[in-house]
Amino acid sequence: MAISHIAVFGAGTMGHGIAQVAAQAGLKVALYDIKQEFVDKGLASIKGNLDKGVEKGKVTAEQRAAALANLRGCTTVADAAKGVHLAVEAVPEKLEIKQGLFRELDALCGAETIFASNTSSLSIAKIASATKRADRFLGMHFFNPVHIMKLLEVVVTNLTSEATLATVRELGAKLGKDCIVVKDFPGFATSRLGVCLGLEAIRMVEQGVASASDIDKALELGYAHPMGPLKLTDLVGLDVRLNIADYLHGELQSEVFKAPQLMRNMVKAGKLGKKTGEGFYTY
Ligand code: NAD
Repeated sequence: MAISHIAVFGAGTMGHGIAQVAAQAGLKVALYDIKQEFVDKGLASIKGNLDKGVEKGKVTAEQRAAALANLRGCTTVADAAKGVHLAVEAVPEKLEIKQGLFRELDALCGAETIFASNTSSLSIAKIASATKRADRFLGMHFFNPVHIMKLLEVVVTNLTSEATLATVRELGAKLGKDCIVVKDFPGFATSRLGVCLGLEAIRMVEQGVASASDIDKALELGYAHPMGPLKLTDLVGLDVRLNIADYLHGELQSEVFKAPQLMRNMVKAGKLGKKTGEGFYTY
């Protein structure tokens, strides 16, 4: 099945980005959020990104117009779900919210519709268990900002069918992404490795091994990472990474994922990184 119509649930940081790349690839996209103001904010962010693309000469004015014409905003799940081949969710990282949404979608969508979650760490099998289509369910883990980051981590469970994987890989290529295929294991490939590095870097700050900027430089200049682990933690948000660390610590039973006290203290003090103006750096 070739995917031409999709619905994206959640118009926040990730949802608007997923909607944008799909609309730019020529797909018809319904973008849903719980309130009109959130839908409008998501659509405005897409327009802002496309305007910047035109300014920089990366997107033509015609391509911008075509992408915007492919998008429609929705505030009911039923409206967004109408006639779609794929439903992707980018709602908050809470199992109950994701399961609730897919339970509702399972009753609304045709048998052929594929469901995908953009979760950073939750079990895809657990989310899929709210539906009767585990064979047409997988993870499509995009990266922020979606229109710039090339990776698409496709997460498959034991029940995901080969045909579903093939369809989604084809779609990934159409969206201009490089796909990796990963089993449904806590933290997948990306979150597990990225958070592990971030936590160790925070432990090094705690132990006074070096300054935050020197620890970042160690990996940027010594190992050619484009961004050091502390800068990246600031960008993602310390609260977001702390949640993932606690989850992985519980699931994998490894002390590698035990969150450092410094991280807990910073989150308590509201030093969440770039979004609050202060983290390991001041913005
Ligand atoms: P966000 O808070 O920016 O956006 C979430 C959106 O979901 C909000 O607009 C909110 O109004 C909406 N929402 C809340 N309840 C809803 C519901 N019941 N139904 C539909 N929409 C609802 O969050 P985000 O950063 O875009 O993260 C979304 C998902 O993507 C999470 O699972 C997160 O783990 C994952 N993710 C985030 C990043 C990142 O860097 N931010 C990267 C990869 C994956």
